[in-house]
Amino acid sequence: MKQQKYYAFLQKQIVLMIGLSLIPGLVYVFFGWVFDILLPALLWYLFLIIVSLYGFYVYKVFDSQKMNEIQLKRWYQHLTLFMYIIFSSWAIIFVLNIQHDEYNLHYIAIFTELGASVVASALLVSDKRLFVPILLTLMLPLSLYFFLIGAWYGYVLAVFSLIFVGVLLYAAYNTHKLIEENYYHAQHDILTGLYNRRYFMEYMEPLNERLKEHNKVVFLYLIDLDHFKTINDSLGHEVGDRLLIEVSHRIQSYCKDTHMVARLGGDEFILVSKDLNITESSEHEAYRFANELLAVIREVYILDKHHLHISASIGVHQLKDFSTDTGNFIKEVDIAMYEAKSKGRDGVILFNKDLSAKVERHLQIEQKLYNTLNGNNLNVFYQPQFDKNKNIVGCEALVRWSDEDLGILAPDEFIPIAENTGLILELGSYVLHETLKVLHQWNEKGKFLNTFSINISIRQLLYEPFIEEVEVLYQYYFSKIKENQTIMFEITEHVFAEDMSRVIDTMKRLKKIGITFSIDDFGTGYSSLSYLQELPIDEVKIDKSFIAEMHESSNSENMISTIISIAKNFNLQIVAEGVETEEQFITLKKYECDIFQGFYFDEALPQHSFEKKYLGLNV
Ligand code: C2E
Ligand code: CA
Ligand code: CA
Repeated sequence: MKQQKYYAFLQKQIVLMIGLSLIPGLVYVFFGWVFDILLPALLWYLFLIIVSLYGFYVYKVFDSQKMNEIQLKRWYQHLTLFMYIIFSSWAIIFVLNIQHDEYNLHYIAIFTELGASVVASALLVSDKRLFVPILLTLMLPLSLYFFLIGAWYGYVLAVFSLIFVGVLLYAAYNTHKLIEENYYHAQHDILTGLYNRRYFMEYMEPLNERLKEHNKVVFLYLIDLDHFKTINDSLGHEVGDRLLIEVSHRIQSYCKDTHMVARLGGDEFILVSKDLNITESSEHEAYRFANELLAVIREVYILDKHHLHISASIGVHQLKDFSTDTGNFIKEVDIAMYEAKSKGRDGVILFNKDLSAKVERHLQIEQKLYNTLNGNNLNVFYQPQFDKNKNIVGCEALVRWSDEDLGILAPDEFIPIAENTGLILELGSYVLHETLKVLHQWNEKGKFLNTFSINISIRQLLYEPFIEEVEVLYQYYFSKIKENQTIMFEITEHVFAEDMSRVIDTMKRLKKIGITFSIDDFGTGYSSLSYLQELPIDEVKIDKSFIAEMHESSNSENMISTIISIAKNFNLQIVAEGVETEEQFITLKKYECDIFQGFYFDEALPQHSFEKKYLGLNV
């Protein structure tokens, strides 16, 4: 319990002890006058005053805000010395008094020893190291005194006094244990055993002062696990908890003693370097540290039968003499962490001021998104897909959001936020209802598209009510769907970093009712061609970044031709998205890509424009 707070508690006991010594001490001077031992009593009292002055000095120099660990230790040594001397001075009274034949003095001596012991128990019980030796110093002479009386009642009293010591020690031991437990619980996170948010905040306060004084910096690291909620939702809280424990062990053993590690709550951890760094050049070092930590977290976790992969997003913030408003730097490192999330997660971002403005908007979006889902600002656009003869064969539904203040927002900006906040479930449900209704209308009017693609987030896929919703709606609208028409769910590769077997089960269940699956942004994520074999998929969609670079880098072109030939082997349909030029279209045709989508043909259009242009419907 080497905490500032604990020292502050002991500091208060100094004043109490001075009071409890100087005031009753006067009474003992009076006794000295009554029993004719005034001089020793006066000398004793003078000594008490000197010790009290020393105690007062120890009391005064204490400053938990400014003292570092070494200074605190030194201060504690002074406190120990003071306590030993002042309690011993009461033991001196005992020794002085029992030397006299006057029995009244003996009674006073015995009472003094007992009184001092009780005071020691009350004041020092929180500190075993102080309490035990001081109690023994006070009580053992008393037991010895009873013993030396040499009569039967003396032996009995000697034994009683020893029992009294035992009881006090026992009580002290229990109280001490309770205090330690309370201390532990107040400062630690129960699940992982790491420090908790409260302790972290307390720890940061004095740091501020020290940074100011030394003109140095420390680094703060905020670690948030990626897609942890999905693991929790899909595998249950027990597995989630065990994963958190495992992650916290890894973080702690990676940091050893160089950093203070705390769990802020949920899947969020925070580290702060214990040593003050000298200059800003250490930024590079901090970045490296965070990246290595990330690699440690990323290694596979084996919990029962689950092989889990999890990555993290880490925000790093260099703290100089920041404002005492402790919440502020947390907010800033949070911003950096969020930036890492929005950059695709699994990364490290250092905080800078430009990030703040971005976050402002992020928060605004989050707030608005919540309200919008109750309103009518969401729209689904449709982007046509073509075969190699430029005949339309399908479309992809892409959601849009137009907001009065924020303008028209691209899904790239709000979908990740919706995923993080869980709002993706509602949003996805809206898109599902809307698109299936529209497809049904088209079919009713005799306009059949072969494929109709909808983007589905992993959260939806692992959310039972969503699956049920799909089943019900499908049954309702498409009980007699045309044989060669399919509804395709586009999912990205990172869904397979979650619980692969569960994802596969869900996919199989949906396939039974007629849903087909496409791997979106293929080639950008945890691509492993072995997935193609294991997964019940029907299509891969080559990511638009490969198409964009196709004619600039031979690598991209090779990648495309490889993806296509392998996918062909697995009998998968191949879609190229983001086709912008004729040149790209021709090359892709050469590699026998099946379907083409992109601005070369058309962008995503509002429902009515799409119907007019591609389905010949006039509204
Ligand atoms: P995505 O699934 O990869 O969608 C393709 C994106 O590329 C669309 O952006 C589309 O407008 C854009 N695009 C189409 N042709 C071209 C082209 O020739 N060049 C370029 N540079 N871009 C092209 P959008 O609509 O902004 O959607 C962005 C992402 O948002 C989508 O990426 C998808 O992951 C997500 N998203 C959109 N709608 C939904 C939805 O309803 N649910 C979910 N879960 N995600 C959605
Ligand atoms: Ca897509
Ligand atoms: Ca895509």
